[in-house]
Amino acid sequence: MKAAVLEAIDRLVVKEVPDYQVGPGEILVRVRACAVCGSDLRIMHSGNPRVSFPQIVGHEIAGEVVGIGEGVKKFKVGDRVAVGADVPCGECYWCQNGMGTNCNINYAIGYQFPGGFAEYILLNRLTVVQGAVHIIPQGLSFDQAALAEPLACAINGLEMSQLGVGDSLAIIGAGPIGCMMIEMGRHMGATNIIVIQRSPARLEMAKKFGADHYFLSTDDDLEEKIQAVTAGEGVNVIMVTCASPLAQEQALRLACHRGRINFFGGLPQNAPNISIPSNLIHYRECMVLGSHGSLPRHHLKALHVMDKGMVHPEQLITHRFPLDQVREAFQTAESHQGLKVVVNP
Ligand SMILES: [Zn+2]
Ligand SMILES: [Zn+2]
Repeated sequence: MKAAVLEAIDRLVVKEVPDYQVGPGEILVRVRACAVCGSDLRIMHSGNPRVSFPQIVGHEIAGEVVGIGEGVKKFKVGDRVAVGADVPCGECYWCQNGMGTNCNINYAIGYQFPGGFAEYILLNRLTVVQGAVHIIPQGLSFDQAALAEPLACAINGLEMSQLGVGDSLAIIGAGPIGCMMIEMGRHMGATNIIVIQRSPARLEMAKKFGADHYFLSTDDDLEEKIQAVTAGEGVNVIMVTCASPLAQEQALRLACHRGRINFFGGLPQNAPNISIPSNLIHYRECMVLGSHGSLPRHHLKALHVMDKGMVHPEQLITHRFPLDQVREAFQTAESHQGLKVVVNP
């Protein structure tokens, strides 16, 4: 089969690799869509402790089941399935306590397990049993279903931030995840949604997702503007989706009393610290938390909310490429020309 193999840092090569053999408990999926994620770009440029080269990356996947291993009851040939990244081991303390996103091993498709930038992906037994592999609702395309993966992470983040009916929600960073959070946040009850973004072009692209207010993060009087649109109170839930120390510091200053601030985007390894007046948290009784990844149940919910037309991640898709042009796909995603780039192998 043909696959995009990351042979070393910055060496992504489309080539023939041996076909997969389906073993007991496994399923073989013909990949129809695999979306490019920011973390794919980071793995390509900087590597990742969980990825050893050569590896096929890509973890936002949808396709069709073409092979079933002995003993698999959950799926059959012809099923359309969406596949999420994280695969809880199911055995460690955290998995046993329902916190698979904090799994001690932290297996993921496109990390330790071969990913989706290939004609086929073989899902191993652990992935079939514990991972996020779900039947795609009839009305959804493969491209849409691939985006259940990032949407699942957005849902996990909003759930953990306890977004409730009537809350105000600020999203700092209007990339694909931020745009999904606008629609998802609305359905979870946010009545006042504020988007804050550094680049004017991305802020403009986010406008079709229907937030209430859009601001540039570089605005000198941003804090006053946020106060003005929140009746002087500040914001209930702030999702920092970008990987920026400054954005995290800014988020704390925008929070209301008992505000929840979620550092959804991790910071770069070389700039992992922030500086804040911690009395802001103390006197306002703020809650600062982080979230990353998602559980299989979030992936299933993501497919359901897309199927019901509540969230429209397909509006994020600005570019599509065949597998042969995977490098162009990565470059396009990196250039921020569009929002979401999908590869159709
Ligand atoms: Zn991703
Ligand atoms: Zn575990």
